[in-house]
Amino acid sequence: MRPKKAKKIVFNSAEDMPTMICSVGSQTHNLTGAWRNIRPEMDRTKCIKCGMCWKFCPEPAIEVVGEWPVVDYDYCKGCGICAEECPAKCIAMVEERR
Ligand code: SF4
Ligand code: SF4
Repeated sequence: MRPKKAKKIVFNSAEDMPTMICSVGSQTHNLTGAWRNIRPEMDRTKCIKCGMCWKFCPEPAIEVVGEWPVVDYDYCKGCGICAEECPAKCIAMVEERR
């Protein structure tokens, strides 16, 4: 069976575009931290400053400050990808207390 021909989608302006393709991850105007019910906590005594958590975080939620990764909880949605990818296993996902 021949694959269906993809339909061309035309956007007339930036406002027509789905928000997810306007920038990497969710945009900074979406405070995705409100979605979180678990939060990442980093143990700096074990961190090797590799930046993998920053690289894999799907939100603008990890910033590298003076070589250390710092979580911005306004944007962290608690997905746990950083903890999964951390080679030093120094990120624990703990229950959020609001
Ligand atoms: S849990 Fe980690 S990877 Fe997921 S959004 Fe928060 S900081 Fe980013
Ligand atoms: S992935 Fe883990 S070891 Fe690497 S910078 Fe982030 S917290 Fe540190």
